Amino acid sequence: MPRARDLRAAIAEPVGRKPDPRLPLLTCAGLARTFGTGATAVVAVYDVTLTVARRARVALTGPSGSGKSTLLHMMAGLETPTAGQLSWPGLGGHPLRYPGRVGIVFQGPSLLPALTVAENVSLPLLLAEATPSDATRAARNALELLDIGDLHASLPEELSGGQAQRVALARVLAARPALILADEPTGQLDHATGFAVIDVLLAACDELDAALIVSTHDPVVAAHLSQQWTMRDGTLRPEHGNLRPEHGTDLSAGAGR
Ligand code: ADP
Ligand code: MG
Repeated sequence: MPRARDLRAAIAEPVGRKPDPRLPLLTCAGLARTFGTGATAVVAVYDVTLTVARRARVALTGPSGSGKSTLLHMMAGLETPTAGQLSWPGLGGHPLRYPGRVGIVFQGPSLLPALTVAENVSLPLLLAEATPSDATRAARNALELLDIGDLHASLPEELSGGQAQRVALARVLAARPALILADEPTGQLDHATGFAVIDVLLAACDELDAALIVSTHDPVVAAHLSQQWTMRDGTLRPEHGNLRPEHGTDLSAGAGR
């Protein structure tokens, strides 16, 4: 079992190539993830080939169980593929080697209930060895950006759903990521609140010059993003993102807006 200090060092260590701004943020080819083995195996994702260009704005749609969360978790480096290639050339290799280069807003509630809003937002920065004053400043700026600076001392149980989702966004934005993955960020919100969250997310991505992939069930939310990728039964529909390199697509071409 690695000690927390070793783990922090491993995450923070900038190994491999330096991020090259000319390269796409992420590419994958033939990507797959199966859970379990034998007769009970579940193929969550298979044969996904795509490129995420800088400043891309992508809606990832598809029915429940089609593999959206599993694909996003692999893109964040949190889930290991069982087949295929996945790399982050524009981020220098692996997203976790450069803290904050990829930020993910999880599908379910993800705030730590015992910590205040400000502590929740600054925690990832502290784990990546930011100084406490830098982490506090970045957290305050992110909360201000999302218009919830006055909630800094609140506990998660005191927040509405929309406020909690903004705090989860602030926690991602505080690290100034180059790629933001948001997994059904409006799924638990009413329509108007959901829209406000998407608007603020798009504005924050513009401000950070970041790429954004949002999974959503809501066609109106999806229409706000310039690219649409559709998943069915674990794979991307070819007409909506899957580049299919076996058909001669150039993987370096990018898929930005
Ligand atoms: P979506 O986000 O589109 O609803 P998911 O990626 O969550 O889809 O799930 C895709 C499929 O993989 C589903 O059949 C789901 O039950 C299965 N799955 C996801 N995570 C796991 C896991 N940790 N163990 C077993 N099966 C899983
Ligand atoms: Mg999901």
